[in-house]
Amino acid sequence: MKRIVQVGTVPLGGGRIAVQSMTTGKTSDAQACVAQILRLEEAGCDIVRVAVLDEADACAIKQIKEGVHIPVVADIHFSEKLAVLAAESGADKLRVNPGNIGGEREIARVADCVKAHKIPVRVGANSGSIHPEYLQKYGRSAQALVESALANARVFERHGVHDLVLSVKASDVRMTVDAYTALAEKSQYPLHLGVTEAGVGEQALVKGAVGIGSLLLKGIGDTIRVSLTDDPVREVIAAHEILRACGIERYAEVVSCPTCGRCEYDCMGLARRVAARLKGERTPIKVAVMGCVVNGPGEAADADLGIAGGRKFCVLFERGKQQTRVPAGQAEQMFFERLEKLLKEKET
Ligand code: SF4
Repeated sequence: MKRIVQVGTVPLGGGRIAVQSMTTGKTSDAQACVAQILRLEEAGCDIVRVAVLDEADACAIKQIKEGVHIPVVADIHFSEKLAVLAAESGADKLRVNPGNIGGEREIARVADCVKAHKIPVRVGANSGSIHPEYLQKYGRSAQALVESALANARVFERHGVHDLVLSVKASDVRMTVDAYTALAEKSQYPLHLGVTEAGVGEQALVKGAVGIGSLLLKGIGDTIRVSLTDDPVREVIAAHEILRACGIERYAEVVSCPTCGRCEYDCMGLARRVAARLKGERTPIKVAVMGCVVNGPGEAADADLGIAGGRKFCVLFERGKQQTRVPAGQAEQMFFERLEKLLKEKET
């Protein structure tokens, strides 16, 4: 039986995949931190993590929590004192590395503290923090990551902490997928998915999407973070796109054909305008923008609303039926009017 771990108001392990991100500013600047978290909330972030480097950061969590509406996770290295302080300031979860937090005495202090505050801990391993014993035994591999993560979990289990979330991130996508797949077999704890140090731009997006997406499609993972060297709001948007692509979330979706020689109107421009209108739209609706009236309505027959363009006239269609032939000059306006009406109908 999989364990359900509660992070503030958000359960992990119960079936719904929670989207996470991390703030980029200094946590002690609580005001700026709150402003960034509110933007993340607006984008659909479920849980936010903040870096705790010193006492000012740890204490700021109290003020941050007063200004935001989602659980706040404190990310701490090297100091059990900061871990305790973050928990006392109201952190909803700690992310620590038992390997650098100190010896048994320090671990015991953190364990007692999280039990007293009834908050979970994320432990795990990434390719840069593999336990030396497993690194020597298995090399830098998925197996070494898994054994390190399980060893880190055992450290807290020995102290009676069982509300754990595990992660095994590597910057190599295949290693990440292999590690999480093996870990899911061996552990009942919720899994935090991510590809670490994914990089920038399209490369990072694709690495995150392939790594996280292929695990989600296998039914593995309870919370995800897409690591991008970018505005964290983009991480949240990317995370929802991955959930959508995996069929886990149904929000507004635009499908469009790649166009070919049959296309005689500005299909790409219209697709972009429709996508801009539906950006962030939570109503589950599938809208198709197709390049020609010959194949478009048939190819997008499952769309709630579609348009197939032509030089003189266009066709509007709903669920592959109810085709309306309209003059090309009026088609876009009629299409958007119908789209707004459908959105309203679906909202109510
Ligand atoms: S829908 Fe028409 S324009 Fe688009 S790819 Fe198919 S045949 Fe080409």
